Amino acid sequence: MENCDILIIGAGIAGLSAAYELSNFANVIVLEAENQPGYHTTGRSAAIYTRNYGNQDIRTLTRASHGFFTSSAQGFSDHPLLSPRGALFIAREDQLKTLDTALADAQAKSAAIQRLNVAETIEINSALDPDYFSASLYEPDACDIDVHSLHNGYRAGLLGRNGQVAVNSQVHSISHQKGYWKLSSRAGDFSAPILINAAGAWGDVIAAMAGVRPVGLVPKRRTVFTFVPPPELNISHWPLTLDIDEQFYFKPDAGQVLASPADETPSPPCDAQPEELDIAVAVDRLQTATTLKVSRVANKWAGLRSFVADKTPVIGMDDEVEGFFWLVGQGGYGIQTAPAIAIAVAELINTGNLPEMLTTMGLQAKHLCPGRLR
Ligand SMILES: Cc1cc2nc3c(=O)[nH]c(=O)nc-3n(C[C@H](O)[C@H](O)[C@H](O)COP(=O)(O)OP(=O)(O)OC[C@H]3O[C@@H](n4cnc5c(N)ncnc54)[C@H](O)[C@@H]3O)c2cc1C
Repeated sequence: MENCDILIIGAGIAGLSAAYELSNFANVIVLEAENQPGYHTTGRSAAIYTRNYGNQDIRTLTRASHGFFTSSAQGFSDHPLLSPRGALFIAREDQLKTLDTALADAQAKSAAIQRLNVAETIEINSALDPDYFSASLYEPDACDIDVHSLHNGYRAGLLGRNGQVAVNSQVHSISHQKGYWKLSSRAGDFSAPILINAAGAWGDVIAAMAGVRPVGLVPKRRTVFTFVPPPELNISHWPLTLDIDEQFYFKPDAGQVLASPADETPSPPCDAQPEELDIAVAVDRLQTATTLKVSRVANKWAGLRSFVADKTPVIGMDDEVEGFFWLVGQGGYGIQTAPAIAIAVAELINTGNLPEMLTTMGLQAKHLCPGRLR
C-alpha cells in the first residue's frame, strides 16, 4: 500500500494541472488507466482559447487562466503556450439576432470583439462563400493552445516536486475507512485522506465506485476530421471560423484544415470513435458555407466533452462524503480553463475558499460545488 496526502484519478489536463498546483504543499499521486496520459479527451481537443465561449462561469475561468498561459513559470515550457489565431463567428440572415445578442454580451464584458460585414469578413477568411452569410463577429485575440506543451509542463513540474504519475493504473475499487481512501488499481494499492475525481467522462463511474452520489455527468461525443486544402490556397492565417449557433467550425491545423460538425451526441464513457454520418454532416455544412471541396478525409477522431445540467464544471469537496473532491464537467472548455481551475482546486483544498483572483471576478464556490446539483 502506497500512502500520500492526495490521490487523483485521471491524468488528463484536469488531473495533472491540479496535481501540479497541489504539489506546492502536498504529496500527490495521480493514477491513470491508460499507458499515455492525455489519451482520452485532452489529446483530442481543437486546442482553442477564446473568451467568447461558454457560460459566464466558463468565461470567468477562461479570462482568469490567461495570465498563466502568457507568463507561466520559468522552464514550464520551451514553447509559447498560446499563439495568435483569431476567431470569426459567422451568421446567416436568419441568425443575425443571435449575433447581435452575442455582440452585446461580449461588449458588456469588455471583450475585444467587432462586428464585420461580408466584405470585411472575406478579407479575413477568403474561403467563405459571400452568398452564405450576412455578417460576422471577429475576436482578434483568440489563440491556439499548445496543449501538448501545457499538459507536459504540468506533468514535468509535478515530477520535479516529487509528485508521481502512475500510468497503466486503472482504479477498480475504492473504499473509505477511518478517514482514508483506499484504492486498488492495476498497479497496486494506494491510500490518502483526500481523493480527487478527475476521471473525465468516467466521473460518475468513479463516484459510484466510491459510494458517492453522482452529479448527472453526461459525456457528449464530438467529431473532428482534417483534409488537405488545394496547394494554391494559403490557409495558415485563417482564424478559427465558427457558425454563431455552433453548427460547425473549421481552422488551419498543421497545414491541413480541421473541421467539426460541433456534434454533441450523448454517449457512455468510452474510447470515442468518429461516426461516418457525423463526418458527412460536417463536410456538407462546410461545403455549403465555403468554396472549399473535401475530396478526401486525411484524419478523423472523436472525443467526449462531459457536462452537467448547467454546463458549469463541478469543482469542490463533496457535501455528503468526507474527503471526496470533484473535478469534472469541464465540457468543451477544459483546456482553456485548466490553469485557473487548477489554482482554484489547490486553494479550495488548502483553505476551503476560492482564490481572490476568481472571487473578485464574481465567481463563487457555490457556482462550482457539487451540492448545487442535488
Ligand atoms: C473535439 C473536441 C474539441 C475540444 N476543443 C476544445 C478547445 O478548443 N478548447 C478547450 O479548452 N477545450 C476543448 N475541448 C474540451 C477539453 O478537451 C476537455 O474539457 C478536457 O480535455 C477534459 O480533460 P479531463 O482531464 O477532464 O479529461 P480526460 O482528458 O478525458 O482525462 C480523464 C482521464 O481519467 C482517466 N480515467 C478514467 N477512469 C479511470 C480509472 N478508473 N482509473 C484511472 N484513470 C481513469 C482516463 O483514462 C482519462 O485519461 C474539446 C474536446 C473535444 C472532444
